[in-house]
Amino acid sequence: MLRRERNAAVQNNPDTTLVTTDAPITTATHGGRAKCLQRLARLALPVPTTVALSFNAVHHIASGHLPDIDAILRQFPQDALLCVRPSSEDPDWGGPSAILNIGMNDARYEILCGTLGPGSAAALFTRFVQSYAIHVDRLDPDMFDDITGEGPAALAEVLKAYEAETETPFPATRAEQLAGVLKSMARAWEGTSARLLRQAKGAPLDAGLGLVVQQMAFGVGQGESGSGVLQLVSSKTGMPQITGRYLRQSQGRDALARDADSLYISRDPRGASLEETVPDCFAQLVDHAKLMREKLREEMQVEFAIENGQLRILDGVRVSRSSRATVRIAVQLARDGIIPREEALMRIEPNALNELLHRQIDRHAKRELLGSGIAASPGAATGKLVFSANEAQASAARDEDCILVRRETSPEDIRGMHAAKAVITERGGITSHAAVIGRGIGLPCVVGVSDIRFQTRKGQLVTKDGRVIPAGEVVTVDGTNGTILLGATEMQEAALDDAFQDLMEWADAARDIDIRANADTPADAQTARNFAAQGIGLCRTEHMFFEAGRLTVMREMIFAESGDDRRAVLQRLLPMQRTDFIQLFEIMEGQPVCIRLFDPPLHEFLPTDRTGQSELADALDLPLSDVTRRIEAMMEYNPMLGLRGVRLGVTVPEIYEMQARAIFQAAVFASRDKAPVVPEIMIPLVSAKREVELVRTNVDAIAAAVTAETGVDFTYRLGVMVETPRAALRAGDIAQHCSFLSFGTNDLTQMTYGLSRDDAGRFMSDYVRQEVFVEDPFHSLDIDGVGELLKLGSERGRASRPDITLSICGEHGGNPESIAFCRDAGFDYVSCSPFRVPVARLAAAQLAISSQIAQQ
Ligand code: PEP
Ligand code: MG
Repeated sequence: MLRRERNAAVQNNPDTTLVTTDAPITTATHGGRAKCLQRLARLALPVPTTVALSFNAVHHIASGHLPDIDAILRQFPQDALLCVRPSSEDPDWGGPSAILNIGMNDARYEILCGTLGPGSAAALFTRFVQSYAIHVDRLDPDMFDDITGEGPAALAEVLKAYEAETETPFPATRAEQLAGVLKSMARAWEGTSARLLRQAKGAPLDAGLGLVVQQMAFGVGQGESGSGVLQLVSSKTGMPQITGRYLRQSQGRDALARDADSLYISRDPRGASLEETVPDCFAQLVDHAKLMREKLREEMQVEFAIENGQLRILDGVRVSRSSRATVRIAVQLARDGIIPREEALMRIEPNALNELLHRQIDRHAKRELLGSGIAASPGAATGKLVFSANEAQASAARDEDCILVRRETSPEDIRGMHAAKAVITERGGITSHAAVIGRGIGLPCVVGVSDIRFQTRKGQLVTKDGRVIPAGEVVTVDGTNGTILLGATEMQEAALDDAFQDLMEWADAARDIDIRANADTPADAQTARNFAAQGIGLCRTEHMFFEAGRLTVMREMIFAESGDDRRAVLQRLLPMQRTDFIQLFEIMEGQPVCIRLFDPPLHEFLPTDRTGQSELADALDLPLSDVTRRIEAMMEYNPMLGLRGVRLGVTVPEIYEMQARAIFQAAVFASRDKAPVVPEIMIPLVSAKREVELVRTNVDAIAAAVTAETGVDFTYRLGVMVETPRAALRAGDIAQHCSFLSFGTNDLTQMTYGLSRDDAGRFMSDYVRQEVFVEDPFHSLDIDGVGELLKLGSERGRASRPDITLSICGEHGGNPESIAFCRDAGFDYVSCSPFRVPVARLAAAQLAISSQIAQQ
């Protein structure tokens, strides 16, 4: 009677329960492993008897209250060896190592000597004593260092060493051993280092640990015995491929640890396989794995043992996977009707798509770190170090891959950046020039590399430990993780395959906010199109003036003495700009294209070094002293807050006039036998409504002139870039004069914090480390401060003009959290770097799906 009651207590006890098909087990109370074992039991798979201990039970054990050990043991045959394994809510949070063969003692050893032979029996016992000593008694592993040899003699020495160290004999009973194991695992979980480690992986403060006590399937013995793992797909690509290992006469995950001695799972030209040697078990295993995939709705790695010819399933864990495999696995599960498409979309972390969009360093590649900085543009590339844009172009002409090293880049470096395979800069943050251009053209980039000295004149880098890396040395830049590595490393290619395309299509069907791209050149626009952006949200026109043949004309324009002279020079730039815009309109095929009028201070276009200035003097036929004097006169103490953006539009109106004319002529041309193009013109750096009025009057006049000249009537939309705090505060007035407001959160962040976007990289990591900022606000939108301005600005803009279009075009536009904010604030679209478009499409889809779920 008593016995039955106690068994029943184990079976129904929510804290210590036998794993049966209907036991009260959940992931939230007993952890993922316990729940998975129950699911395997429900599938009638041959799972050994298991008792699950809840988080609660383990918490009690840690505070000194053991459960009824005898009641647990009664669930198993008297002579069965046991193992205990951790079962946390999320397997990524880790847990103590599994302990196998609990119950090994002298008597059991004697029996095993008879069945397995003294060698194998002693090896098993020795391993158990060592693992018990190290993991349960927390003895120093060194204590066994002097014991060499194997077999019974080694076992005797190990037991002696144990006794000498602990001053007690090795625990003899299964109950004592099990109690010891449970206590040590429970305490290990509550220890400080384990807690910090799992919190770093996102575990909550009170994350619990469950434990499973399982009957050992003995992979050691007579007949076919062994253990191994099997999965149906490749962890690297996610493609169907039966992989794994099987090791005869082994336990646990030995087959993976002793790879050289293991058998392949399926037929393999490299050696013997389970499929050939034990075909029955192989066939059963594959069937079980398929059933698990279908019913657990996930690709699982099956942990199994063969015990005297009998297959046992010990566990199933999610197949470990690269980002590329994550996408293919989720998509294939949805294609096979195992999970809905929405769930496939929800299973992929949007930023993981970066790994598919760019070449990456192989996860398992060896890395020799030289230094690190801010991961400004994802992807990886290898090449020889060069220290100037000219050298980068010369390398490209020789067909040699190169990495461009600069203290910081300026518009003059653009052609060098195009020629290089990656860029690293000493200074700068996530919105610095190198970072923005890098992301725009898909060029890996690391900025703010503060732990390497950039000796650019000497053409060398000096690492923290004093190593000198000269020009010409081969390095690899990992823009995804922000590291610079010595030499070439193994790479994984980008994978914009059918799985990715399907996923993107499903995302588009689910999302409810538009995604545009920031694209400055036809190449950018083509990338944006390829990634199915719904238009261009920001075309930074100034980048067009750095192209060959234009810079000198631009400089001539800057040096012009009068408005008329300036107009005359601009007349030469007009056809070039018109061609730029025609190309953009044609590539975008009727999608909206938002062109921002000229933004940077003019002196950014002037040479800063002596040689450049003499060349300019020659080109303009002016004395060098005139040129240097003019350049000096144009310099500003605070160029970011100086004569730029709309301030140029007001004070040097000829530039905007030329641009407006080029835009309208291009629109007329591009509409000639197609649906009319409706260009969007955006005014940067506005802070007062009068600025908008003045520019609007001029632009309207140009539109009327182009209509008169061409005889074609057209419409256009004028918008304002909200990137000064005042423009956000006065958005109500400003909205009266325009049809859209686009928040430029790079400058808006800079001005809200009073934090230079080009210099903040130097101390940003200190600020984040000391928790002054939760994150780099140039990278992740500061919801509390800058976000408040976005909210205010959008509310005031919309109140004053209900049909106004609202959007964001700063670098935050591609960041999933910022997209969530913009969607909640009712924005019409976000615009981001072309290569961020897929990330934004997926993030937006997930937001829409989550809100649908919340409404149900
Ligand atoms: C901005 O300021 O957010 C922006 C998009 O413009 P830029 O980065 O060109 O200053
Ligand atoms: Mg700006």
